[in-house]
Amino acid sequence: MIKEKDSKYISGTYARFPIALVGGKGSLVWDDEGNKYVDMGTGIAVNGLGVADEEWIAAVTAQLSKIQHTSNLYYSEPDAILAEMLCERTGMSKVFFSNSGAEANECAIKTARKWGEINKGGEYTTVITLTDSFHGRTLATLAATGQDVFHKDFLPMPEGFVYAEANNIESVKSLAAQNKCCAIMFECVQGEGGVRPLDYDFVKGLEAVAREYNLLLIADEVQTGNGRTGKLYGYMNYGIKPDIFSTAKGLGGGLPIGATVLGEKVESVLGAGMHGSTFGGNPVCCAGAVNVLSRIDETMLEGVREKSQYIFSELSEAKGVKSVSGMGLMIGIETEKDASAVIAECRERGVLVIKAKNKVRLLPALNIPDELLHRAVEVIKAVCAE
Ligand SMILES: *Cc1c(COP(=O)(O)O)cnc(C)c1O
Repeated sequence: MIKEKDSKYISGTYARFPIALVGGKGSLVWDDEGNKYVDMGTGIAVNGLGVADEEWIAAVTAQLSKIQHTSNLYYSEPDAILAEMLCERTGMSKVFFSNSGAEANECAIKTARKWGEINKGGEYTTVITLTDSFHGRTLATLAATGQDVFHKDFLPMPEGFVYAEANNIESVKSLAAQNKCCAIMFECVQGEGGVRPLDYDFVKGLEAVAREYNLLLIADEVQTGNGRTGKLYGYMNYGIKPDIFSTAKGLGGGLPIGATVLGEKVESVLGAGMHGSTFGGNPVCCAGAVNVLSRIDETMLEGVREKSQYIFSELSEAKGVKSVSGMGLMIGIETEKDASAVIAECRERGVLVIKAKNKVRLLPALNIPDELLHRAVEVIKAVCAE
């Protein structure tokens, strides 16, 4: 019934898995036929505290019963509190709220272009991004995405993006030298590109190139942010500080919110009327995000790192596993079997995992109970070994 209606009326952009999720609790979710699953995907790194978390529901419903939307014509308390939290925990200066990762990146790109115009001249518009990156589905963020396969159906792409080879700092340097650039944008762990962490030295090198050529560093923390990598934001694993970072997915705990977080250099680049969003900073979403951020403390992050170690140690040498990559609870498994087959078999055995390129991707809740994590890992191991 759900399936038929969906295929008849919903645009065919999604190749859905053949189940309908209708409920859950923590890291267990269930479908409309009553089958239960350990959730190792969390709606693509969104439900960071699991499903139906009571404290989060209380925070969200309290705001919901006060006022559900104000528009940005008025001040709104949850927005101010969330922005303060984001800045205090990162040492950044200002925040722009939107509704998704792509929009958070759009704002980062617009800010970088305007900064380039003010500080370097109107022709300094080019943004260097990396091969195998993913920055979103709007035209500008698609253009920023360094994968031709996403571009080809929608030409012409907006101009002003050049692609350096990930983990090759010479390639970044030569693009910086040859183009009139304003920024370098990167994901410290390339998620959609196959869960590939950038090399430590490469990220340090990006910072050096940015300094040498007077470029902004933009960290796309849409997937890596909000505790996912075992630090509050992924760049913190590399001992660098970006000028701008964008985040979304896990920030709202399941509600749509994007944030573009601006450092000192760019804090006053955007002035009144230069950018905006009707829904951006929705108070219900912000109230959810305040609860999520307040819960991601050092204890939770330590838990993420421990669970990560457990997964790496169990799967790295497992039969049928070629390699394990990633950071924190953002993990890619290269399997001998076809990844889609592994995903289907895991699902039939009650474990939901997803895909990234040719890999099986794990994005469990940051607080997944060890018992459920162990159960999921045993199933994944068994499926890979067969
Ligand atoms: C998911 C993702 C995006 C796009 O986010 P949406 O909310 O789907 O627009 C951008 N960048 C990265 C790194 C992502 O993982």
